[in-house]
Amino acid sequence: MVNDVLLKDVEDELGRGAWRLRFADHVEAHFEADTQRQRSRNMVVAGLIAAFIYNLFLINDFSFRPDAFTTAVALRAGVMLPVGLTILWWVYRGVSPRTREFLMASTVICATLISCMILVSSTARYSYLDVFSFGLILVVGNIVYSLRFGYALASSVLSVLIIVAFVVNYAPMPLEIKRLAIFTLLANGAFTLVANYRLERSERLAYLHVLREKLRAGHYLKNNEMLSQLSLTDPLTNLANRRQLDMEFATRWREAVDKNAWLGLMVIDIDHFKAYNDRYGHLQGDDCLRQVARAMQLNSRSADLVVRFGGEEFVVLMAEASPEAAEPAAERIRRGVEALQIANAGVSPQAVVTVSVGVAVLPPEANMTADDILSHADQALYQAKRRGRNRIWVANPVDLPNADDAAGDLCRSAR
Ligand code: GH3
Ligand code: MG
Ligand code: MG
Repeated sequence: MVNDVLLKDVEDELGRGAWRLRFADHVEAHFEADTQRQRSRNMVVAGLIAAFIYNLFLINDFSFRPDAFTTAVALRAGVMLPVGLTILWWVYRGVSPRTREFLMASTVICATLISCMILVSSTARYSYLDVFSFGLILVVGNIVYSLRFGYALASSVLSVLIIVAFVVNYAPMPLEIKRLAIFTLLANGAFTLVANYRLERSERLAYLHVLREKLRAGHYLKNNEMLSQLSLTDPLTNLANRRQLDMEFATRWREAVDKNAWLGLMVIDIDHFKAYNDRYGHLQGDDCLRQVARAMQLNSRSADLVVRFGGEEFVVLMAEASPEAAEPAAERIRRGVEALQIANAGVSPQAVVTVSVGVAVLPPEANMTADDILSHADQALYQAKRRGRNRIWVANPVDLPNADDAAGDLCRSAR
């Protein structure tokens, strides 16, 4: 249900205008939750590389502007490096998405400011040429960090303004070079922002597509599970149906053969149910079936499979059966139904709804089929009915009566 809502939201996002970046709050929260950890790590790694290269520029400072080298060391290694590393540590530890973007964008502005301060602290001849490398700071923010577009735009605009302010007032720089530098910087800002927008857009689209496929797969899986559950369940009583019995029977039969264990099965039939229906009507008959089904389920072990075999006939496939355990298990079910005390006045004024139970517990022999045990339990049920109903009868495979004259109605009608 929750996933269905999210799936719809994701589909809405995919259908929305192509230019929008931020998702609706619900989807945005998922996006952040799914990508935040990796994104923070990527940013920290990128930040460490950027910090290293930023300090490598000290070589450049040393050769181009020896007059300002001490200032450069103080600002790059003494200010920018500790500030940058503190921010990276913060992001690595985990901060909110907005704080993360804000902190990383602030390293861009900080680096720009410090580079400008180093620039103007020198009067060396070619020192101003360094301005052409300032665009690299925008490359780092907009492409290497891939700041979210809003933060990339804000940090780029601020950085360009700072650089322009310093360049304009930097006397040793010829006017034509100033113009070229500012133009190059603006072009650099524009190109990297376009790239930044595209990167974020494709990251978000890819995320939506993957999430949609995941949600759809989960959706289909759930529907399939529901369908197969429906096809294996009796709609009236919610018990297992014959199809499930067939599947489970085959599995347990094989297991019993492998383990050389016994296999046990009860066939249960409601007594005088036709009289009940005739007296109370079919709808109440259905209600009675539900109550009896529930009593049988409650009075059997969780590993037993209780099946509505058809009409008012049920089968219990017993787990870990033994001749000694099967009889009390069947008796518990018989008593559980009787204890419901559902009047069956169609039989006699005091009569209540009861069941007869035929039990068969057999060692599965190689030449014996799964149907054989069902047929033995049918014959036992016939004996229980013949001996007065509301009782159990355990089939003795050694002295079973002739199958032809003992086979009960269940054997003929339901199978
Ligand atoms: P016995 O003690 O010998 O089993 O007698 P019985 O009356 O239970 O046996 P019989 O097979 O003659 O009748 C079974 C009845 O169960 C007949 C049928 O109307 C009823 N029945 C079968 N399926 C349903 C059902 O889904 N709902 C209802 N209400 N009745 C059902
Ligand atoms: Mg019957
Ligand atoms: Mg019956």
